[in-house]
Amino acid sequence: MRILIVEDDPVLSRQLADTLSRAGDAVDCAGDGEEGHFLGDTEPYNAVVLDLGLPRLDGITVLKRWRAAGRTMPVLILTARGSWAEKVQGIDAGADDYLAKPFQTEELLARLRALIRRAHGHATTELTCEGVTLDTRSGKVTVNGSPVDLSAHEYRVLRYLMHRKGQVVSRSELVEHIYAQDFDRDSNTIEVFVARLRRKLGVNVIRTVRGLGYRLEEPG
Ligand code: CA
Repeated sequence: MRILIVEDDPVLSRQLADTLSRAGDAVDCAGDGEEGHFLGDTEPYNAVVLDLGLPRLDGITVLKRWRAAGRTMPVLILTARGSWAEKVQGIDAGADDYLAKPFQTEELLARLRALIRRAHGHATTELTCEGVTLDTRSGKVTVNGSPVDLSAHEYRVLRYLMHRKGQVVSRSELVEHIYAQDFDRDSNTIEVFVARLRRKLGVNVIRTVRGLGYRLEEPG
């Protein structure tokens, strides 16, 4: 999944980015409201972590502009401790969840996972398809109950396809959701990841839809 962090505290921003990357996400960071607004307006994110107190453009204004422009990605806001007024303002402006600073990184991860899950209509942390199970909480993948080892990028591709199960996902859409913005992107590598996933999971799990992309079948 591709996540945007808009946070002007460089230490906190770096720490969140590292944690999310380790959990298998592609992460972009913005250090002020204008840059954050621009990225959220132009790049396809699966979720956004948005601090409210930001230089150049405050978080509430950023959020209102995204929502006014029809940007519907899940947004979790970071508020000052004990400021109920900020929470109310944020939720009214279109936030999906909030966390008050300081917070435990594990709680942020759990809330983000829940937001992404709900945005894709899934009720649990486990995604399944044709004998393959992916637990978004532990990052573990099994085939018919046996664990399989996936590289970070293989995991990202599989997780994205599983979230979009039954739908056709183009290679460019995969590229946009598994790489961060500053990563050297090459859509040919997607074919390599899919080929490796087929070897590890079985050939029939990921179908090729000619000229369009890939699809995981809904269990019939
Ligand atoms: Ca701040």
